[in-house]
Amino acid sequence: MSKKKEYSLFDDVCGFVDEAAKYMDVHPGLLEQIKQCNSIYKFNFPLRNDDGSYEVITGYRIQHSQHKLPAKGGIRYSTHVNEEEVKGLAALMTYKCALVNVPFGGAKGGVSIDPLNYNEHQLERITRRYTAELIKKKFIGPAIDVPAPDYGTGAREMAWIVDTFEAFNPELINAKGCVTGKPLSQHGIDGRTEATGQGVFFGIREAVNVEEDMAALGLKPGLKDKTVIVQGLGNVGYYSAKYISEAGAKVVGVAEWNGGIWDEHGIDIEALKQYQVKNKGFKGYPKGEFIKESKELLTYPCDILVPAALENQITMENADKIQAKIIGEAANGPVTQEAEKILLKKGKLVIPDMYLNAGGVTVSYFEWLKNLSRVSFGKLEKRYDMEKYRKLLSTIENATGEEFTDIERDALIRGASERDLVLSGLEETMVTSYQALNQKRKEKNIQSLRTAAFILALERIVISYTDLGIFP
Ligand code: GLU
Repeated sequence: MSKKKEYSLFDDVCGFVDEAAKYMDVHPGLLEQIKQCNSIYKFNFPLRNDDGSYEVITGYRIQHSQHKLPAKGGIRYSTHVNEEEVKGLAALMTYKCALVNVPFGGAKGGVSIDPLNYNEHQLERITRRYTAELIKKKFIGPAIDVPAPDYGTGAREMAWIVDTFEAFNPELINAKGCVTGKPLSQHGIDGRTEATGQGVFFGIREAVNVEEDMAALGLKPGLKDKTVIVQGLGNVGYYSAKYISEAGAKVVGVAEWNGGIWDEHGIDIEALKQYQVKNKGFKGYPKGEFIKESKELLTYPCDILVPAALENQITMENADKIQAKIIGEAANGPVTQEAEKILLKKGKLVIPDMYLNAGGVTVSYFEWLKNLSRVSFGKLEKRYDMEKYRKLLSTIENATGEEFTDIERDALIRGASERDLVLSGLEETMVTSYQALNQKRKEKNIQSLRTAAFILALERIVISYTDLGIFP
């Protein structure tokens, strides 16, 4: 009897690339060169616990492409981490960066642990040793390969990484640029924490503003009153849900690995997040209905479904049951290639991961540039009497009846802050990239936004590889 083929994110990504290549004239040898991962580093290292016990931990760093340097991509801590997953995620980074014109190659790393099973001291030891292994093999450095947060990691881990890297590279003036997503105190950039979710919001906003696409789905343009289900209330899911609901959409479902919440009246994201942090889940949340089998929530009725957790969530098993008309891939690889075919056949709009979650790496690029140039943006608040200006603005508002938004007020009072610069750069990137990929979709007369996105990315990567030539 034939065994069912195991899911591989890397195979899926290669499948998407092959699909895009059908619309292009790429030399098959070059296509193969582009598709493969250039360097795969898998390593084991010991962790000695305080009680004297030992564990062997497996780590990975995979560089898919160095056609632009440094290679870039997050580090994931999860029990799902394996070579195929990291390869797929690394490859996605190459195409993602090319699509949004961020001049990096693609990489990804991971440690195969459940971070919830370790205390802070153990996580610090694991992270520092993981970093040391990368340093030994020259798999990290501001000009080589620059990690960032991903599923299961955040600013705290990035601070340990930069500290370890600097300890081994005291002579390197730009050492801070060895990792992004750092805390502000460690030369991070204001707005990086929420950047991916913010980008997801900008991307969905662009998609729902295309009148003809909305008409085809039987929806009105705009986010107002659209119903939304989000899978995952971690960093990406939380900020996506927050900004989408602030723009007038109604989040009616949130699914987490240990249960979900369904509430047709709309969920207060802030309150739910606070409850989750305190209670390690949604069980007992006083509003809405607790859904034990949270994956079922993906198939509940809504306009927009935002999977913001892991890959391989919408598969042949549940694709047919998805009721949402728009699927916004905030996670990497949440819809398999086979499942996407089913969704497209039903006329749904799938906004692809490589575009929709590119906000994270876009702002990482700003952080890296900031670290290389060694600049810091100060705050004018320290030098001026801000209260005086606030009063002046209120006087103008009273006299004219015109109200300023918070952003306008801030900008008028103290000029653009680092955060404003980051946000405007991110918005510009998400808006222009959407226009470009939608344009490509029309030009090639194809239905899939993902294929259009891969064509655009691949066109740029092919030029880059061709200009580079082959060594020796
Ligand atoms: N881990 C994020 C991603 O998958 C961000 C990567 C980065 O900032 O380098 O895109």
